[in-house]
Amino acid sequence: MSTLRCTWCGVDVGPDEGYRAAEQAGERLATFCRLEHTVPWAIQGPHWEAGTLAEQPREEPALSECAHCGAALDDTRVLLVHHRGEYRIADAFCTTDHLRAWASAGGRWR
Ligand SMILES: [Zn+2]
Ligand SMILES: [Zn+2]
Repeated sequence: MSTLRCTWCGVDVGPDEGYRAAEQAGERLATFCRLEHTVPWAIQGPHWEAGTLAEQPREEPALSECAHCGAALDDTRVLLVHHRGEYRIADAFCTTDHLRAWASAGGRWR
């Protein structure tokens, strides 16, 4: 399995760690070593890479609304998947800006 690098800082990100952001409709991906690195990335661009998620998160009701503002989402949503050991924890957002706002507020663990 090829090693991914953080889209923001370039460090290696193993398959069972870090975060994957995906805009599935546009088949665009980004990889992050830490949640905090989504913030400057979103502010600066954001720069996506072409690609799709290697592992699709389980489709859950929570993924049909923005984790930040609660807006109903369609297939233009932005997914963020936390890889933590064997766990895959997904959240969805209406825009990368709301991903940024959510991440800068501490994400899930605030
Ligand atoms: Zn990083
Ligand atoms: Zn939102």
